[in-house]
Amino acid sequence: MSDSVSISHATFGLMGPLAHTPTQSMAIHCVIFQIGERVILLDTGFGTREMLDPNELLGQDALFKLGIIVDMRLTAVHRLKAMGISPDQVTDVILTHLDNDHAGGLHDFPNATVHLANEELEAFDGLRPRGPYKPYQISHRTKFQTYEKSDEAWFGLEARSLKLPGELDAKLIPLPGHTVGHCGVAFRDGEKWCLHAGDAYFDTNINFLEPPPGLPLEVAFQTDALDRQSSIAKLKRLREEFGGQIDMFCTHDQSEYLSHTAGRGSPDPLAALG
Ligand SMILES: [Zn+2]
Repeated sequence: MSDSVSISHATFGLMGPLAHTPTQSMAIHCVIFQIGERVILLDTGFGTREMLDPNELLGQDALFKLGIIVDMRLTAVHRLKAMGISPDQVTDVILTHLDNDHAGGLHDFPNATVHLANEELEAFDGLRPRGPYKPYQISHRTKFQTYEKSDEAWFGLEARSLKLPGELDAKLIPLPGHTVGHCGVAFRDGEKWCLHAGDAYFDTNINFLEPPPGLPLEVAFQTDALDRQSSIAKLKRLREEFGGQIDMFCTHDQSEYLSHTAGRGSPDPLAALG
């Protein structure tokens, strides 16, 4: 009999409040899938190297402007250990994109296969430098599984089914604009679909106003304004047409993160750490 998938939500890092919103802090909302002994992560947040050497690897400017909390206990490795999971058990990592607050922790899981959109890896390797793309994040040892444009559809959006253990049904949903190959990740949780929208939006109460205002952080880091706005429009349609069937959340909305964890309403995830 095949193992069932156990799903839990975690923040692998914590940043300061999002300007001009009521946010108290910004989560780095990641997902942990456990299938028997095997563990699959959806984004890795910042890793141990960034926490050991933040001035050099993150930079004083980003530390200050983004309000990045430097605390080893927030890294994926440490959060997993607190759950009794060894880093060796992480066989696969699914990435929304390669910015360092989503992929910084890759170096802590050197044996994992990393799944992402083909366009994202090409952009990382390409000629358009981007502050949060940090070359040290990946090495010749990193095993990538990339996914090309496909004819598959998921609720009317392009989808790319991930090559993962059969028990986990998950797909990349291209939502470009924040980065060239930025994707949401749709996955089945029991009877329901979830959509981790990555950084396609930042605040669930502000980004879906009509017309959507551009928040300083998302405009500053966008690679293409029209693509970003088009991705938000796709998500808005999903919420309107299929809101009852899809649990949608993004990476940095703290209220969404808290609504998916046992610490509902807890103002400070650090308080729950050992
Ligand atoms: Zn981000």
